[in-house]
Amino acid sequence: MIKIKNLNKHFGSLHVLRDIDLNVGKSDVVVIIGASGSGKSTLLRCINLLEEPSSGEIWIEGNIVDRRKKNRLNILRRDVGMVFQHFNLFPHFTVLGNITEAPVQVRQVDKQQAYESAMALLEKVGLTDKAHAYPSQLSGGQKQRVAIARALAMKPKVMLFDEPTSALDPELVGEVLAVMKQLAAEGMTMIVVSHEMAFAREVGDWLVYMDEGKIVEVGRPEQIFEEPRHERTKTFLSRVR
Ligand code: ATP
Ligand code: MG
Repeated sequence: MIKIKNLNKHFGSLHVLRDIDLNVGKSDVVVIIGASGSGKSTLLRCINLLEEPSSGEIWIEGNIVDRRKKNRLNILRRDVGMVFQHFNLFPHFTVLGNITEAPVQVRQVDKQQAYESAMALLEKVGLTDKAHAYPSQLSGGQKQRVAIARALAMKPKVMLFDEPTSALDPELVGEVLAVMKQLAAEGMTMIVVSHEMAFAREVGDWLVYMDEGKIVEVGRPEQIFEEPRHERTKTFLSRVR
């Protein structure tokens, strides 16, 4: 589904991603962990071209991701949904407005149909009663569930999550993870940067540990938790657990 080959990213003299190779199969849930500054967000941002890789290749469903191919960029943005730590909802739109904006503007979905799909998505994330609320009237957990519904409204093939629960109060984390878990159970292909170890263990098919721009270790979560192969992984896990 996603193949990353020898990906490198520099910001000026800073070498942020180093020879990243990663394959993500259809319906796989890949959880990425690693210290602050290790390049996790940059890797996600390269996958949907919010950042341009310095070298290497990214393939999604047999198509190479390349900024120079404009039509491809649109297809990519449609096929890859992203959820950020800080929700990034449009504050002047209602919940429904947030969810229907891109399908109507980008996908040219008819308004009534976009509305009906949005209501179905709100049902899925448990927020039908907030359809007409504004983001400022929602809790963090509710905002993040709207952000997930908004990304799903584009019918993506892959969902990228960048620390979706780390800005939330602890009591709100569970409701967002529950929605993500349900999505995984429905077969969505997901790449999730998160330090929620219980989620990684329960929902993750693969765990990736990054350090200083490199993938140090990839494996089944239980294998990495029980017997990490690398000393650095061991040290990191002992600090986050
Ligand atoms: P965190 O856990 O804190 O979110 P991260 O693993 O997501 O960290 P990145 O945000 O990918 O790390 O950053 C990796 C490195 O790249 C850091 O040293 C960061 O300062 C640098 N960096 C990220 N974005 C830019 C940018 N736009 N310009 C310059 N340097 C950047
Ligand atoms: Mg980050």
